Amino acid sequence: MRFHVLTLFPEMIDQGLGLGVIGRAVKKNIISIHAVDIRSYTLEKHGKVDDAPYGGGAGMLMQAQPVFDAHRAVAEGRRVRTLYVTPQGRTFDQGFARELAGEEELILLCGHYEGIDERVLEEVVTDQVSIGDYVLTGGELAAMVIIDAVARLVPGVLGNDASAEEESFHNDLLEYPQYTRPETWHGKPVPPVLLSGDHREIAGWRLEQSVERTRRNRPDLYEKYRERQDLLRRLSGKKRENIHMMEALRRGTGRICYDEGGDTVLYLPESRICMIRSVPAGEAGSSGMARPEGREPGRDLRQEREASVLDACPEEAELFVTDSGPAADLLEGRGCRTVARCAQFLYTRREPLPLRHRDIRRLGAESLDPGSPDSGCMEHFRAFYGEEAYGRLRERVRAGAVYGAFLEGRLAGVAGSYSGGSTGLLYVEEGFRGQGIGSSLEAYCIDRTLERGWVPYVYVAEEDEVSARMQEKLGLYRAGGSFRWLGRKKHLQRAEIYGKI
Ligand code: SAM
Repeated sequence: MRFHVLTLFPEMIDQGLGLGVIGRAVKKNIISIHAVDIRSYTLEKHGKVDDAPYGGGAGMLMQAQPVFDAHRAVAEGRRVRTLYVTPQGRTFDQGFARELAGEEELILLCGHYEGIDERVLEEVVTDQVSIGDYVLTGGELAAMVIIDAVARLVPGVLGNDASAEEESFHNDLLEYPQYTRPETWHGKPVPPVLLSGDHREIAGWRLEQSVERTRRNRPDLYEKYRERQDLLRRLSGKKRENIHMMEALRRGTGRICYDEGGDTVLYLPESRICMIRSVPAGEAGSSGMARPEGREPGRDLRQEREASVLDACPEEAELFVTDSGPAADLLEGRGCRTVARCAQFLYTRREPLPLRHRDIRRLGAESLDPGSPDSGCMEHFRAFYGEEAYGRLRERVRAGAVYGAFLEGRLAGVAGSYSGGSTGLLYVEEGFRGQGIGSSLEAYCIDRTLERGWVPYVYVAEEDEVSARMQEKLGLYRAGGSFRWLGRKKHLQRAEIYGKI
């Protein structure tokens, strides 16, 4: 991932982020941090970058021209997400950090003095971000806070990828207490359960401690946690149909936008997917979803909830997935198009799947280099599925979420997981088909998902009988109902991917 910081004090960024975990990640080329001196872009001959504000008032303002030219030099015509750090922005939190970690490149713009001329902000900034309700003298510390929090979520930056998933704020819980040697210190022994060697017991104790700490220290977060647990419990009444939502909640990737009378909207900011569930009245009892009596499902959603359910989908959502016909029809009425009709399959067992093909490994970003020995397979994937799907594959390779099967040292096929949570991106080179490599790749992805304590699931286009048979052979179960993927006009191609792979 590449960070560019537009600043009047580049040394501050270089020095502040050159050490420790982040400094090591830069040295290993997992991330890059490029501090750009705004002053070197000013056209003013004495190097001035600020002036007094029109209308009077205290202090000076940074002028538009040097900021604009510095931004243009970095973006080079590309559309790069550009954050202006300012006390007036959206408050930065772990969810926002996760969302930003999905980007390949970010530009952070640091203000000074009283801030920056509004006109250039309007032209280059995509997001305004605050690190808290207080005022700093300049944006550099804020930019460093954001880079630190985002970079540590990039695969490979922390030695142990799982550690980012167990920390405070994951799943709206604060982290449990931790202890290290010696076993007794100042007469205080380490809690005995941690010495028991029983991983289940330890995990249970840690969860209990996390919940209790959150309840005590952060009642606001605890409320969110309770709300999520409550929804999870209700969704588990129809686990097969709701697994995508349950997993988004469990993995901490989905946020609840709407949850009333059995209708649920979850939004996944990282993948910009909206998951919509509307329970027909007759099913209310069996699913545990309480729908007020006397309402018909279609009419209910159409006539009473239409506005509220769909309005709950954030503006920035690009894709929608739903097994509710009325909800899908309504989305179509609002300018979306159905691009894929899929069946949802899930793997409900805990045991890992056996692998026929053994040489399967996680692909690194180097596989994407045009000169890499893997480039042939990558190019064939591109020709087979198209540009949009290839873009998604690249993004997921960079996120460390794609695995490759090798035969005699050659990359014979790939599979991985989408940021939305499902397993897919499956492709096997023509010459290697019919040898079970596809199933082995999918089984490998399933095993990796199980290792993280998650439930693997897959979307298969309804007409794709071959893939459906493969899912059943692997031991996955088909959920009832048909899942429609819809896209807003400009994101149609992206939605199509789910029906293709
Ligand atoms: N006059 C501005 C206002 O009231 O919004 C504050 C300007 S502040 C003194 C100078 C710069 O510090 C800002 O342009 C911004 O880049 C940065 N800054 C200050 N506080 C911040 C915060 N809480 N979060 C992010 N950036 C901040």
